[in-house]
Amino acid sequence: MDSKRLGFRSKLVHAGATKDKYGSAVTPIYQTSTFGFDSAQDGANRFAGKSEGYIYTRIGNPTIAALESCMAELEDGIGAVATSSGMGAIATAFLALLSKGDHVVSTAAMYGPTRTILDKHLSRFGVSATYVDTSDFESVRGAMRPETKLIYVETPSNPLMQVTDIRAVAKLSHEHGCPLVVDSTFASPVLQKPLTLGADVVLHSVTKFINGHADVVGGILVARDELTYRKLRGMMTVMGCNMDPHQAYLVHRGIKTLGLRVERAQANAIEIARWLEARPEVVWVRYVGLPSHPQHELARKQMTGFGSMISFELKGGIEAGRRLMDRVKLAMLAVSLGGVETLIEHPASMTHAGIPREEREESGITDGLVRYSVGIEDVSDLIEDLRHALEGA
Ligand SMILES: *Cc1c(COP(=O)(O)O)cnc(C)c1O
Repeated sequence: MDSKRLGFRSKLVHAGATKDKYGSAVTPIYQTSTFGFDSAQDGANRFAGKSEGYIYTRIGNPTIAALESCMAELEDGIGAVATSSGMGAIATAFLALLSKGDHVVSTAAMYGPTRTILDKHLSRFGVSATYVDTSDFESVRGAMRPETKLIYVETPSNPLMQVTDIRAVAKLSHEHGCPLVVDSTFASPVLQKPLTLGADVVLHSVTKFINGHADVVGGILVARDELTYRKLRGMMTVMGCNMDPHQAYLVHRGIKTLGLRVERAQANAIEIARWLEARPEVVWVRYVGLPSHPQHELARKQMTGFGSMISFELKGGIEAGRRLMDRVKLAMLAVSLGGVETLIEHPASMTHAGIPREEREESGITDGLVRYSVGIEDVSDLIEDLRHALEGA
C-alpha cells in the first residue's frame, strides 16, 4: 500500500514498511556489515548505482533504509540520512554544506555541543559564526554577510524554548542563496514540518521524541532537494557516522507510537505548566503553549501543538535548583528529553556548569533555571512529585 496517500497518523504506523518473502510485519534487523554480489558484473552495477542492491552497511542497509524512507515521508522530504547520533547529523550537515571562508548565522541559545563544533572545530578550518536570538527576525537579517553560506536554527530551542519563524528565515536565506537547516528535535514531525515552511534540511536527535524510550542514541537528516540529499549522504558515508541496523529497528518501532506519545505528554505538559505558573516558588514558566510565552502566537501558526518541554525559573537560585533536584522522586534526574519517562535537569549546576556565570546568564541560562521534560505518566503523580519537591526547596 502506498502510504504517501495516507493521513499523518497512518503514516506514523506504515511509512517505510518493506515487504519480504515471509510477509514480515516489520522490517527485520539486517545485522550484517556487508552484502555479497552475485557476479563481477553485479558488483560493478551496485557500485555504479545501476542496481538496487546494497554494498556495505556504512553506505546503506535495508533496516536503516526503511527508517530513512519513513522519516523522509513524515517530514515531506525527498530523502533522509540516518546517523549514529544527533551530533553526527549536525556535524554531517556542517561538513557537507560549508567550506573554508564561509560564515554561519545561528541560534545563540541552543544545544551546547552544536556551538562547540562551530567555535572549537570548524573555526580551525576557516568557518566563522554569528549567534543571534533567531526568534527576533531583524537580528537574523542584521547578522547576514556576503560570505554567509548557511543559516542554522534550533526551534523550539534548548533550553529556553524560543520559537523562530521558519518561513520568514527560509525566505531570507534563499534571498542570500544559502540553505536553512533546522534542528527540530524539540518538536518532532508530529508538531512541525520545517521543510514545508521552506527549510532545506531538517534534522533530529532521534534519541529524544522520535525513538522516545531512552534506549537509543541516534540522529537523522532529511533533505528537501536531491542535490542537498546527495551531499549529506556522501558526507555521512565517508565520515562513518552511520546508524547501526539494530538502532534503526528500534527507532522505526518507536515512531509507530510517536503521535500517541507526543499528544499524551503534551496534555500533561499543559496542565503542569499552568500549575507551575501559579506556584509561589516559581518566578516564571517558559512553555510554548502558555499565552505568556513570547512567541506563543507564532507557535500557534507554525506548529500543530506545543510539545512537552518546560523550563522554569526558581526563586532562590542555584541552591534552590540543587535542592529541587534532590527532592524529586518520580521525575528522573537526568539529561536527555522526549522520552516516555519524565526527566528533570538543572543547567546551572549540570549541563552548563562549565560556562562562566556571566556568560551563562547572558544567554538566559540563569541560576534557578530548571528544564523539565514531561513524560506520559499520570499527571496527578507528576504534580504531586513537583509539589512535594518544591515545598521543601
Ligand atoms: C540531544 C540533542 C542534540 C544532540 O543529539 P545526540 O543524539 O545526543 O547526539 C541536538 N540537538 C538537540 C536540540 C538536542 O536536544
